[in-house]
Order: sequence, then structure tokens, then C-alpha cells
Amino acid sequence: MLIAKSDIYIALKKYFGFGKFKGLQEDVIESLLSGNHTFVIMPTGGGKSLCYQLPALMQEGTAIVVSPLIALMKNQVDAIRGISKEDGVAHVLNSSLNKTEVKQVKEDIVNGITKLLYVAPESLTKEENVEFLRSVKVSFMAIDEAHCISEWGHDFRPEYRNLRHIIGRIGDNIPIIGLTATATPKVQEDIIKNLGIGNATTFKASFNRPNLYYEVRPKTKDADADIIRFVKQNDGKSGIVYCLSRKRVEELAQVLQVNGVKAVPYHAGLDAKTRSSHQDKFLMEDVDVVVATIAFGMGIDKPDVRFVIHHDIPKSIESYYQETGRAGRDGGEGHCLAFYAYKDIEKLEKFMSGKPVAEQEIGQALLQEVVAFAETSISRRKFILHYFGEEFDTKTGEGGDMDDNVRYPKKQVEAKDEVKL
Ligand code: ADP
Ligand code: MG
Repeated sequence: MLIAKSDIYIALKKYFGFGKFKGLQEDVIESLLSGNHTFVIMPTGGGKSLCYQLPALMQEGTAIVVSPLIALMKNQVDAIRGISKEDGVAHVLNSSLNKTEVKQVKEDIVNGITKLLYVAPESLTKEENVEFLRSVKVSFMAIDEAHCISEWGHDFRPEYRNLRHIIGRIGDNIPIIGLTATATPKVQEDIIKNLGIGNATTFKASFNRPNLYYEVRPKTKDADADIIRFVKQNDGKSGIVYCLSRKRVEELAQVLQVNGVKAVPYHAGLDAKTRSSHQDKFLMEDVDVVVATIAFGMGIDKPDVRFVIHHDIPKSIESYYQETGRAGRDGGEGHCLAFYAYKDIEKLEKFMSGKPVAEQEIGQALLQEVVAFAETSISRRKFILHYFGEEFDTKTGEGGDMDDNVRYPKKQVEAKDEVKL
């Protein structure tokens, strides 16, 4: 590595105003600056962006950042421009730019001003873009949300599959950094294989969220009443209630309102204005509860969400982990309460029935894990972490008693009791 350790800290302070790194960031950055392929697995909120932004700002050339979400790219570009006070330092290259804008982007890259170029994977399939990027100095390639490359991930994007080939065309020895918050061993293998980074240095942070309390209750006819009671007991606290369907979202939001809870609905069927107004109300604490489909939550960083309720069980453990992960970001209390009925699993199976067979098989396997999780009598935290390839000891691990099964173990029926029955 040509860059001294102290320079990394100086840059951290200069560009981001932070005095120290979070978790594994420093090691990741050193690895990337040394020119290694690098693989980063960190939970959401772990600080993955900085792992490529900082080295990009410190190095010569342009780092190409592949990201699947245009909105998130724009956010990051605005943030980087804000800290560096030079608009050309970060750009997005996509189909929404007009000719003049594209020319400006290319000029800034050629002139060495642009340190970060965000591209959607589709834009990288365009021959003219590949030709252009071949001709400039690329510091490294960052593949954010790298799980999109895997059919086992929760957000498979076929265009991600072409990345390895395209990177090869852009340059021979470009270091690659892949980043994801999906920790299942299968997805990890897939990422490494498809990005062709078998020799990558891998950094995996723990996925344990010790301040979250996990609870699963059987879902009966009284689930709504249960939810109302729970929300009332947590009066004034911020919370999210996830439902599978838009219809259920609307109904439950109304039921809560009728019961005096400040609640709003959120789903993709609402127009953009209503959605953003409801989201703002939640962030500003004009309302306490958002009843939502999974359309709600991506990129929302409210630190003091005190509970996440699943009116319907999600379709995979990853989804459950992501959604419950929105609670207790500030390290304070976070109650994760899920309602479970096997008939909801059958409903989710039915949703998949129109899909290609391979997809259905994967979906089935993921669902079976959800069933196992909901029905387990072992520590839920241990179950989740095991699913993510992490060992957890409930006696010594942080948050070891923070779930219903550990705190209120189900009574074991002993053999001799059964004989008596
Ligand atoms: P991820 O992509 O892993 O979900 P982000 O990159 O969005 O996480 O970062 C999450 C939050 O952590 C951001 O608000 C970011 O500013 C903050 N953050 C990142 N690195 C540091 C650091 N070294 N010190 C303090 N805050 C940090
Ligand atoms: Mg991120």
C-alpha cells in the first residue's frame, strides 16, 4: 500500500468529519488500497459506503460504483458533492442524462476530477460506455448490494450476472470490492464465484443485534386486537407494522386510527406524494406508527423505531432480519413481534406458483427456513445467526436472553409424563 495509515485518518476527518472508523472499515480500506479484491459483508447501517468512498477520494483515477437503485445513487452523489464542494467529484451515469450532461461527466472523468462514478448495471452493458471506461484510469470497481448477483439473494438482478465480463473488458487488473448485507453462505459463494474474486480478502461483521428482542406469537383471529393492545402499551413510541397486502395495510391502519393510535398506511399503491408525506410524518413524529408493505423501509434511517411488528410472516429469514433491523438503530430498545400461522406460508407459496420452477424451488427452501424459525423452541437469535453462518452461544453472547424462547422456555414434556397421559 502506497498510502500511509495516518493519511487514511486524515482523509476520514477531512472528507467525512469522523474521528474513527466503524467496525471493520479501516481493514477493508487498507485491503482495497493495497489493490486486493475485497469482499465486505456487513449488516445494513454498518457503514459499507465509506469503505469504497474514502479510498476513491484518496486515489488517482475514478472508482466505478455499481448500484441497483437510482434513488440511492443520487443520495450518495449529493452527499459526496456536499462534502467536497466540487460537483465533478461524483457523477451518476445513466440513461436519464442528456447529451450535454454526458459530455460533462466524461470530461470530468478524463480530467481526473471525478473520483466516484455511479452506474446502474444496465448502463454498463452499453457498448459506448464500456469503450469510454476502457480508455480512462479506473481506480477500482465497487459492486454495492452485491447479493443482486445471486438467485439466492432477496433481490436478484440478471444484469448483475454480466458484471464480471464487463469489468474484464474495462481493464485487466482492476481491484474489485463487493459489498452486501446478505450473509447467507450460499449467497456469499455465489457472489465470489460470479464476480470471479475467489482470492478476495473477506471481511464479515457480526450480524448480532443484541438490543433487539425477538418474539413470535401464533396468529389467531384476534391478531388485530393483539396488535392494538401491543401498540397501546407502547403508546407514543415509533413503530412499523408490516403486512403482506395493500388491502391489509389500509384496513389495519384504519383500525389503529379508530383506536386512537396515530397511524398512517404506506404501500406502493399510494401516489408518490402521499407516500412521501406519510414517510415524513413518521420521521418527524407527527405519527407514531406506519402500517406498511415491504415497500416501506429501504434507506429509511429513523434511529428510534421501538418496535417492528409482522402481521404476516415474511418470505425469508433475510427479509425478516432486514425488516426487524429497522428497530433500535440507536442501540435502545427494539421489540420485534411476528405473528405466525402456517396458512400464511401456504399463501406465500401460492404467490410463487406462477414463477419459473427454479425460482419456486429457491422460494420454497427459503420459506421452510421461515417455518423452522417460527416453530423453533431454541433461541431465535441463535437461529438467525446460524442461518447467517455465525455461531452464537446464548450463555455468553450479547443479547443471549433477548427472545421469547430463551426467556420463557416452553415446558418440555417428559417421557414419563406422557406415559401417564
Ligand atoms: P450500509 O451501506 O452498510 O447500510 P451506510 O454506508 O449507509 O451503511 O452507513 C450507515 C451510517 O453510518 C451513515 O449514516 C454513515 O454516515 C454512518 N457512518 C459510516 N461510517 C462512519 C464512521 N466511521 N463514523 C461514524 N459514522 C459512520
Ligand atoms: Mg449501503
